[in-house]
Amino acid sequence: MSNQLIDAPAHEAPLDPNDWTELRVLAHRMVDDMLGFLEDVRERPVWQPMPESVTTRFQGPVPIEAEGLARAYDDFRSDVLTYPLGNIHPRFWGWVIGSGLPVGMLAEMLAAGMNPNLGGASHAANLVEAQVLSWFKELLGFPAEASGVLVSGGSIANLVGLTVARNARAEIDLRRYGVAASPRPMTLYASTETHSSIQRAVEILGLGREALRLIPCGSDFRIDLAALADTLAADRAAGRLPFCVVGNAGTTNTGAIDDLAGLARICAEEKLWFHVDGAFGALAALSPTLRPALDGMERADSVAFDLHKWFYLPIGIGGVLVRDEAAHRGAFTLTPDYLRHAERGPAAGERWFSDYGPELSRPFRALKVWLALKTHGAAAFGRAIDENVEQAHYLAALVSVAPDLELLAPVALNIVCFRYRVAELTGAALDDLNQELLLRLQESGVALPSNTTVHGRYGLRVAITNHRSRHDDFDLLVSEVRRLGQDVEAAMRGAASATTA
Ligand SMILES: *Cc1c(COP(=O)(O)O)cnc(C)c1O
Repeated sequence: MSNQLIDAPAHEAPLDPNDWTELRVLAHRMVDDMLGFLEDVRERPVWQPMPESVTTRFQGPVPIEAEGLARAYDDFRSDVLTYPLGNIHPRFWGWVIGSGLPVGMLAEMLAAGMNPNLGGASHAANLVEAQVLSWFKELLGFPAEASGVLVSGGSIANLVGLTVARNARAEIDLRRYGVAASPRPMTLYASTETHSSIQRAVEILGLGREALRLIPCGSDFRIDLAALADTLAADRAAGRLPFCVVGNAGTTNTGAIDDLAGLARICAEEKLWFHVDGAFGALAALSPTLRPALDGMERADSVAFDLHKWFYLPIGIGGVLVRDEAAHRGAFTLTPDYLRHAERGPAAGERWFSDYGPELSRPFRALKVWLALKTHGAAAFGRAIDENVEQAHYLAALVSVAPDLELLAPVALNIVCFRYRVAELTGAALDDLNQELLLRLQESGVALPSNTTVHGRYGLRVAITNHRSRHDDFDLLVSEVRRLGQDVEAAMRGAASATTA
């Protein structure tokens, strides 16, 4: 018999745990398992193919009735956790993907448990993001009055920066009338080595990709400043409205850093918005030895940076800084009545981050940055970045002394592009050999570089944004590449002699 006047219905709060003790035991096991997973990562293959028996399990129907977390977690362990791309492995160097710090994993749990909404209002999580942004202003050489916002990664950071640039430099009220109303077509400038996210941003912004004028590079893969000046002059003469130059602080292909000081000067003279795509390399500013290479970045109007690449945090975090706070807010702020900011109480709050980007509800991304910087200190990140660059030079040296390997590009930062070579083979045959070699290497699970084409030559690309790699890992890479190169070469010769016989 209940002494409540009205019995609570049995189905009330159906999603809340009814046995916290049981959940606690399982949750502790999850934390232990995941820490073990990180600790033992070196013992596992980098990558392995998924058997069909596993892939088909992802086609099952929606679970209508409860299975319980314990069973769901078993499925996660057997079917998901077993088949990663491998980017937390010490021998993963494909594309540009970070290695994920343990403190980042813990921070994501804490953030999701607290579940704040960083769109705005008065609560401490917003102050964490504001503080993180202040720290990055300092680390990247931006003034304290600059504004910024954390986003999901470099692509969105570039989109935000270019949106502000477009709106600030349009000859019309762009938010009101749209790009089509621009009296002159708006154009922007970047090198041919620029990341595809810039083109995508230009397309999303309604400028059309013809608006993105691609400027050739020198043999060092840095933008040719004379060619930029010529194109600007020609475009002005043709009635276009140049409004922005995008500089690369580390290109994805080779790690080349544009002459950012030179670009800053041109932008100042030509009254153009200077955006730096630092998704890959801006964080090199944390290293006192590398910082001079980024000279000029601190003069940008906006800079995009990624924290899930060369800051090693779990994926889903980048940021953008904008020198002119009013221009930044002016591109995005939109406050309907139901979001009107109050003077006091929970709906107050000095800075509403939803005024600085496309998202209204925003996750607590800042926590993993805040905890990581407090845990390790910015200097340790600088040392890890230095270490990765030193490892790139170590690998390049191993490649240079191996008679059957060749470098495809000079090492500008932390990227090494190289390939296996055979004196008698050239062109497509050598490309094919390296393609087969790379696939065998990746499928072996020993190491995972990705591929690239440099000056028309196909090769392996090792991008080191990995805080777990050690020198031995590069020794092993080189010996495996040479061994597989010889195997593939022998197989090709066998096939060739079989066809001639
Ligand atoms: C990775 C990268 C981007 C895109 O960043 P995401 O975080 O993948 O969205 C943009 N520019 C450069 C130079 C990059 O390396």
